[in-house]
Amino acid sequence: MPYMSWRLKVAVLFTSIVVLTHEGRVLRMTGGSAFANNAAPNAAASSTSLASTVAAPRRNEACPEGTLPDGDVCVHLALDESGPELLVAPGAHREKSGAWATYQQIPRLPDRPPSYDAYLYPIPPGLANGAAVVSGYDLDRPDGQQRRGQRLSHVGHGGVDLPQARGTRVSLLRLEHQSGEAEVLYTGPLFGTTVVTRHTLLENGVNRDYVVLFGHLESIAPSVHPGRAMADGEIIGTVGDSGSPGLVHLHYEVRRVRDGVDLRKVAAGPRLIAEDVSIVCDPRNVLPLRPL
Ligand SMILES: [Zn+2]
Repeated sequence: MPYMSWRLKVAVLFTSIVVLTHEGRVLRMTGGSAFANNAAPNAAASSTSLASTVAAPRRNEACPEGTLPDGDVCVHLALDESGPELLVAPGAHREKSGAWATYQQIPRLPDRPPSYDAYLYPIPPGLANGAAVVSGYDLDRPDGQQRRGQRLSHVGHGGVDLPQARGTRVSLLRLEHQSGEAEVLYTGPLFGTTVVTRHTLLENGVNRDYVVLFGHLESIAPSVHPGRAMADGEIIGTVGDSGSPGLVHLHYEVRRVRDGVDLRKVAAGPRLIAEDVSIVCDPRNVLPLRPL
């Protein structure tokens, strides 16, 4: 019955929002419109964090190449004639022990739309009004605005969480400026049952490798194994809650491989997401835009 299924769907969606909100306090309880509301503060936080994290120049020292003096600091130039330059910025948050955890991260580029609704994802949107993201990238936000688990076991979020029904098929998504097909690097436990793929993006005339995580899967497609090339739209697996019991969603995370790292020499598995191998990146920098 269409009427009943509509009501059931609303109930399921509402449950997803409530449960995931428990996990991440960044969210507001207003459904799809939360993301539109988040857009402005997020943009503000992003630029604040960039401005406040650039290194202050030593006295009488000119700003390094690619930066300009702005008051007491050297500000990185986000854009030039050859296109957007990806910035690496320091980030930090306070862990349960009270210690600061520091890391590098790549915040959203200023020319990329702040709204998560502007992008395509590896699964169909699972929220009301066509929204897909229930919890977004927040490593570029000040410590107090990063997400906190109930026991502070989850601080900060380097990907996007996409709620969908258990068993929904997850497809390989070709990223912007990607050259060639993606390659499966790893399948197995990581963020629950996880598939990690490699994508080479042509940025400002330079090929850069990215690794993409598909986490909390219910299952991995039988044909998906390390070394396999994956074309846009090929099935990776299905949405589940492995490693996040009761929270059925896809964790989708993008990381840029550090310059000089040869992925062929990196052991498949947790090493792929180690700080010295890859830097977490705001996925909006590389996700394809949703057609208008
Ligand atoms: Zn997540």
